[in-house]
Formats: sequence, C-alpha cells, structure tokens
Amino acid sequence: MQQSMPSSARSDKFVVTSIAIVFVLVTALLGALVAQSIYTITATSNAIDDIRAKHAAVGAKESLRKQLGAIVRDNAYWDDAFRQISMAETKRDWIIENWASTTADYPLYDTAIVVDGQNTPIVAYRLGEAMDMSPAEFLGPAFDEMVSAARKAQITDPVPVYFIRSAAGVALIGAASIRPNAPDDPVNSQNYHVLVFAKHLTFAVVSEVSETFSLANLTLDRDRMANALSIPLRDISERDVGYFNWPSQMPGTTSYLKVKNTIGIAAIILVLFLCAICAVGLLTTRRLRGSEARARFKATHDALTGLFNRSGLIERMSEASRASRPQAAAMRLHFIDLDGFKGVNDAWGHGVGDDLLVAVARRLSDMLPCNVLVARFGGDEFAVATVEPIATAVVQTIGQQIQVALERVFEIDGRTIEIGASVGVAVAATAALDVGDLIRRADIALYRAKDLGRGITVEFEEGFDEDAKTQAELEHQLRETLANDGIDVAYQPLVHADSGEICGVEALARWRTLDGRNLGPDIFIPLAEKAGLIDVLGMQVLTKALQEAKHWPGIALAVNVSPLQLKNPKFVQNVTEALRNAEFEAARFTIEITEGVLISDPDQAQRAITALKQVGIKIALDDFGSGFASIGALRQFGFDRMKIDRSLVQALDNDENGGAVLQATIALANALQIPVTAEGIETEEQAIAVRISGCDELQGYLFSKPITAEELGIYYFGKVAVDVLEVLDMYNRQVKQAI
Ligand code: C2E
Ligand code: CA
Ligand code: CA
Repeated sequence: MQQSMPSSARSDKFVVTSIAIVFVLVTALLGALVAQSIYTITATSNAIDDIRAKHAAVGAKESLRKQLGAIVRDNAYWDDAFRQISMAETKRDWIIENWASTTADYPLYDTAIVVDGQNTPIVAYRLGEAMDMSPAEFLGPAFDEMVSAARKAQITDPVPVYFIRSAAGVALIGAASIRPNAPDDPVNSQNYHVLVFAKHLTFAVVSEVSETFSLANLTLDRDRMANALSIPLRDISERDVGYFNWPSQMPGTTSYLKVKNTIGIAAIILVLFLCAICAVGLLTTRRLRGSEARARFKATHDALTGLFNRSGLIERMSEASRASRPQAAAMRLHFIDLDGFKGVNDAWGHGVGDDLLVAVARRLSDMLPCNVLVARFGGDEFAVATVEPIATAVVQTIGQQIQVALERVFEIDGRTIEIGASVGVAVAATAALDVGDLIRRADIALYRAKDLGRGITVEFEEGFDEDAKTQAELEHQLRETLANDGIDVAYQPLVHADSGEICGVEALARWRTLDGRNLGPDIFIPLAEKAGLIDVLGMQVLTKALQEAKHWPGIALAVNVSPLQLKNPKFVQNVTEALRNAEFEAARFTIEITEGVLISDPDQAQRAITALKQVGIKIALDDFGSGFASIGALRQFGFDRMKIDRSLVQALDNDENGGAVLQATIALANALQIPVTAEGIETEEQAIAVRISGCDELQGYLFSKPITAEELGIYYFGKVAVDVLEVLDMYNRQVKQAI
C-alpha cells in the first residue's frame, strides 16, 4: 500500500531549496565583503589625504615662523645696529630709516617695534606709519611676554616666533634683543633693546599659503570649523589665537563617486541575479510541490473513476480515526460488490465494463451526502465510508440507498445494462477505531451478503467473526485432507427404468474432517470453490472414482464437476489423462454439470463441452428444473442427458400441476431425443410416475443411498443382498402392471 509521497520528490525539494539558500547567502556575503572593501578603500584614502593635508598645514605654519625668525635674527643680531642703538640722539632716526619705514611695503613684516632696556617703546610703526596706540595695547599681553622671551634667548637659541592676536587680526610675531653678532654678553643682555617684527595674516597671505601648500579653500578663522580639518595657531603662552581651517579633500570619496554608478549597476545586476535565483528556486520547488501533489493524488486515487483507492480511503479513515473526539460519530464502512459485472465485461468487453464502473462511481457520488467518502478498491469493488457525523437516520439507510441506486438500469453506449450490488457494512464505535479491523469486518459482512444470494445488505455481527474463524479452520482442515488424498467417494446407483437393473453409478464426494465429523458436499464443495481448492478436490474424486469403477464391468460412471473447474484451461486435458491412466473407456464416463456455468460463462462452457465430447465423454445437465436453464440450452450445448432435479419429482406429491410440469419437461427432452434421468426417487409412486412420463434412468433412496465402493461391490456385483433384490423385483412387477 502506498501511503505517502515519493520521498525522492521531497529530497529534490530539499536539495533545490538548500542550493538556492546557499547561493543567496554566498552571493550576499560576497556582496557585503566587496561593499566593505569599497568603504575601507574610500575611508582610508580620505584619511591618508587628511593626514597629508595636516602635515602640509603644519609645514606652512612652521615655514612662516622660520621665515620671520630668520628676518628678525638677521636684523637684531647685527653689530652695526647695536652700535647705532647705543647712540641716544640718532638711534630713533636710524631705527625708523632701517626698520620702521620698511613696514609700508616690505613683504616679510608689516609692523616693527623697538623697546629699550626698560621696555619703553622707542619706535612703533605699522604699515609705514607710527602706531596710534601703544604696542601693548595693539598686541595685547603676549607682547610683553615676547619681549622678555627675546631677552632670555641666547644668541644660539632660536628666536621666539609665535602667533598673536592684535587689534588688526592674527599676526605672526618674532622678537630678538639687539646685540652684536657675537657670543653672549650675559652682563648686558637684560638691558638690550629688543626688536619686534610682526606680520599680519591677511587674506592675501592666507591665499598664498593655501596655494603654496596645496590646502584648497584654506581660511583663517577665530574658531575651529565643524566638519573641516584645522590646526590651531598659538601665541607664546599656548593660547589659541586662531585656526587654519580647510575642508577635507576626500579623494577616496571622490574616486568612489566616480565609480558609484558602475558599482550601482553591478549591485542592481547582483540583486537581479539573486532575485532570479530565488525565482528559479521558487518555481522549481513549486513545480516539485506540484508533481508531489500529483504523485500523491495518483497514489491515493483510482485512475479510472477518480475516486479514492484503497490506500486513499484507508488514509482518510485513519486520519479521521486519529482526529476523532468523543462526540464524533461512529465510523461506518460499506463494502460494495457489483453483482453481474463480470457478465457485462465478458459480453461487451472491457471498454463497456470501464464505462459502467465510471457510471457506478458517478451514481454513488451523486446520490450520497457529500461528506461521505466513496472509493473504488479495484475490479468491481467499491467502498463507502462515513467518517464525519451524519444523522443516524441517514447513515443507517446508506446500504439500502446504494442498492436502490445500483439496481436502476444503466444506459451505456445505447445498451441497457442491469446490475445489482451486495453490500457489507461494518460500524466502529467511537472509541478505539481500528481501521484495519473495520475493513476486515466489512469484508466478512460482504462475503456473507454474497453468500446469502447477492443483492442484499448485510451488517456485520459479532457472530460473523466466529463463523469466519470456523470457516478458516474448516478450510485449513480441507487443505490438509486434500494434501493427504483424504477425500472419499460414495457411489449412488442409477437404474434402468424398464428393468430396474443397475446401469451406472454417480460418484459423490465424502469428507470426514480431521476432528471426525462427516460434512456434506453441500458445505464443503462451496468451501473448496471459495478457497480455490475445487480443482484438486474435483480431480481427486474423479481419479478415485475411475480407479474403482473400472472394476465394475458394464457400469457407467458419472462424476460431478463444478463450473469453476471448467474455467481451468487444462481441465479437459487433465480428465483425458485420468481416463487414460485408469484405462477407463470414455464412452462409459459422464460428466455432470449444473446449469450455472451455462449462464455465467456460456462460451467457456461450450468450449469445454465440445472438447470433452470429442474425446467421447458424455455430458449430463444436472439439477434441471431447479434453476433457469431452458430446454433450448440442452440442444444448444449438445447435452447427452438431462437429470431432473429432485424438487420436480417431489412436486409430484405436493402440487396438483406437478405431474403436468414433469410430464411436459420430460416430453420436450424426449422430443429432442435427449434421455432423461430422474433424481431423488424415494417412493414407488414417484418411480412409476417418472417412468411413465418417459424417464429411462432412475436414481434415489428407493433403490439405494450413496454407498461406499466396497458396499457397492458386495451388494450388486458380488453376494447381492436379499432385501435390495426384493426392492428391485417388486419395482419390476409394479412397473409391468402399470404399463
Ligand atoms: P447432486 O449432483 O444432485 O447429487 C445428488 C444428491 O442427491 C446427493 O447428495 C445424493 O445423496 C442426494 N440424493 C440422491 N437420492 C436422493 C433421495 O432419494 N432423496 C434425497 N433427499 N436425496 C437424494 P449429496 O451427496 O449430499 O451431494 C449434494 C451435491 O453436492 C450434489 O448434488 C452435487 O451437486 C454436489 N457434489 C457431490 N459430490 C461432488 C463432487 O465430487 N464434485 C462436485 N463438483 N459436486 C459434488
Ligand atoms: Ca449430480
Ligand atoms: Ca442432481
């Protein structure tokens, strides 16, 4: 039973999903790494350039200081200047001429101040003019600090040069004591005059620095600018007097911006690629899911009718059984077997048979409530199950409804087809719903329905289980008996109607079970047929009978054959071989078959009969009058003899018309020149009546019950028992009188 999906589809789905996920993850990771690298390259080159720019700015600052330092040193440490300063009357003019007047247009300084040993300004000029305020006022407190730093500096020390905030802005200031350009004279150093040069960082100066040192957009500001690079400009006491600010060049960002579009396109391609992979993965899984669903449907449904198949129904019932809560309704399972379906198949072919099955499926589905499950189990077997709560009144009539629905004629390809249905029902109480058990019970109930003559609904009863067990046990015993060649044969004599002499015997199977009971063939022949043992049983009886009867000279032997045996393609061959082995004359051998086979499979019956007759075997139609066989069948199939059923003979006694029917039947057979045997003759009256009507052979308890071969040998072919002879004698006398 296929309960679940092909696992390959499931694992395919897993593989596809995994590959897609891994691919997406790897690609996303690579994307992230590349993005991270681009960011790092950008940031790093920005940072490197910022460092370069800072170095350049610091370099610019230092170069300005150095330049001013050099000019201050050259002018202050100068022997001639020292000498001129010491001349009190002329020193002021000399200072103005040499240093102050040049402030007007000299590029390296715009302010020149000289103070004497007591720090009194002697000259203070700016831009070629005497300053209108004192140097301390103009330059602030840092001025005095510069002067005293200048006095402290040895000739070998660097000249102090710093930035300063003046009343006119930020300036570079340098100071040195005016002294001979010779090693220090520490005694006088404190009394030296001090020369101070200052150069204001005007817009032009800043622009020049910006250009010279590649510091684009450099500005001089009072404060540090946000989001920009900057260096502080400090005075001698480390006070910030202003800042050089300039924007970061960000070459990394610039480069990035140049390739940004390309990267964007690459990213879009990547995203599209990932989307494509996801889409392909999705489509593939959807396709797999689709094929999984199709496989699932196929595994659980019948291809011809589209109904559930066996596995499908069992699965659904098991699900319902698992999900069932105390209030859920009892589960009810109906097994349906179509009556007469095989005949339809044989008569009109499988195409019509298939159409009929589809029509049955449709009729069942249409007629039943929609929450009832309908299934085809294969062949002409259907099942109907209620798994959900349905009104009890409805549920109990489902079997009946099925029967009514299927008894209505079907119109298929212009043919009117009549079938019927046998239904077996099993009900599972709410608790402990075992689906397997339910199926078994429905099966047993169906079996029973078919046994009881078809066209009926049988609901499983506890006793059936017991019966089924007994049946199974009996079947087992029969198998054993057959394996040990243990079926016995009884013989019932057939007598000439005229003379009362024995002309033949009918072989009848006898079975003594392993537990010592004698069961009649009415029980064990159907059992053997159901269990598939009839071929073996039939041949066992036939072989034994041939072996025993060959010792009875002049006596004909009749053997019963089940319709099922005729279906065996080797039947004729087997019988012929048995005859040959027993060296039994075919002409003395009769096979009795019942009319059932003529109806269920006429072609097959005809083939077998023809073949048997070709060998010389005679064929008798058994139990005539118990069923539907017509006299026409006798001729059509070429029967050599007709055996009138016991029921017709008994009708002589019970029924007024009995005699007439019997007479007419025998007369018709006689008209067709078919000899007639009367079965079940128990009284002399019956014997005489059938004799007069035209039967040439008689059989019945009046002459003898079925007896063993041994008894037969003793009574009839050896020391004949007196009472048997008496019966025959009396019969002969009475027959003669009657005629
Ligand atoms: P059948 O072929 O009609 O056999 C005659 C049956 O009628 C025998 O029953 C026989 O005992 C019974 N009988 C004969 N005379 C009288 C009578 O005067 N009164 C009454 N009440 N019964 C009489 P049996 O042996 O129980 O066999 C029953 C049936 O089982 C047979 O009916 C035959 O159809 C079948 N059967 C018996 N042996 C075999 C066999 O070897 N193979 C097959 N396929 N069927 C067999
Ligand atoms: Ca018979
Ligand atoms: Ca019979």
